Amino acid sequence: MSAATKTEAAALERVREKVEAGERLDAADGLALYETSDLLGLGELAEQARRLRGGGDEVYFVRNLTLNQTNVCRVKCRFCAFARAVREEGAYTLSPAELAAEAKRSYEQEPYNELHLVNGESPQVDFAWYLETIRALSETLPEVHLKCYSASEIHHMSKLSGLPYEQVLTELKRAGLDSLTGGGAEIFSARVRRLIAPGKEPAENWLEVNRVAHGLDIPTHCTMLYGHVETLAERVEHLLRLRELQDETGGFLAFVPFAVHLQNTRLDPDLLPTTAVDVLRTIAVSCLLLDNVAHVKAYWIAMGLPLAQIALEFGADDVQGTVGQEQVFHAAGARTETEQAVDRLVRYIQAAGRVPVERDTLYNELRRWD
Ligand code: SF4
Repeated sequence: MSAATKTEAAALERVREKVEAGERLDAADGLALYETSDLLGLGELAEQARRLRGGGDEVYFVRNLTLNQTNVCRVKCRFCAFARAVREEGAYTLSPAELAAEAKRSYEQEPYNELHLVNGESPQVDFAWYLETIRALSETLPEVHLKCYSASEIHHMSKLSGLPYEQVLTELKRAGLDSLTGGGAEIFSARVRRLIAPGKEPAENWLEVNRVAHGLDIPTHCTMLYGHVETLAERVEHLLRLRELQDETGGFLAFVPFAVHLQNTRLDPDLLPTTAVDVLRTIAVSCLLLDNVAHVKAYWIAMGLPLAQIALEFGADDVQGTVGQEQVFHAAGARTETEQAVDRLVRYIQAAGRVPVERDTLYNELRRWD
């Protein structure tokens, strides 16, 4: 065993002792976990931590539909292949009625429990358009959970309307909104945001929207977009800031780490795609550091179902869902199918030796395959 490997083994052992003693990990532990070459040892440790916190054999998924009402966006993030300028070819904006009709058509073909709606931040719409959309969806599909908009979009609505976050969220909730998506977090470091998303609000605003939402009993999700210009220390800092807010509010339902997809983006063309090892490592480190977020998702649409299956050995316990019509990752080159039949998700989960559980957005169990 080389000296470096001995050092890594000692670092992993120190973390294992903390995990077994129920002690919280810190930034130095997070970095040591990222830097260890013992990938399988890391995965095992993450699984151990998840089970010590009460996790079992269950792997969750939801029947959901992902829709985008507009791809017009003023922000121009460098990693985004989805957004269009107002007059650019391919730009579209659906009216509330058109979107509701589309959601209903899909529901009649294949019923779903959750509607996941995210958009570009269009300067061409107003807050009334968002409220009408939620009302139209809520009236058309009263039994479907409306998981709509990221914290960044709530910030955008606040800018458009001049209303504080609390009022924006209160009015959306009154119209029928049930929860927020987790997008827009990217990496919290100001240095990274300047490089990849200079038009986006600072991390403090993203966190504050979530804080206010949790205070209004609107649960939300949290994410990290990695694999571009960030350092490992910046990833760890991001995770710890999420953990801090979760300590305060407890309102995050799940964490979803996304590796960036490079195709059709304005990121440095010399950037290399994220490796499978980095994806697995990030799932494991997230699970270990975010000891207060109940679920880490292996989002199959971004990583592919075969890798998501392996991520279940690294602390993930959710593969997201059926995700009809996904566009954001596919615009950036994701090659996974846009609709995954429930029986295929079930087969992959069972082949990993785990128990598939269909859930709703709030993790109530709807069906299980024991
Ligand atoms: S990631 Fe979102 S905010 Fe950024 S350019 Fe794309 S649609 Fe706009």
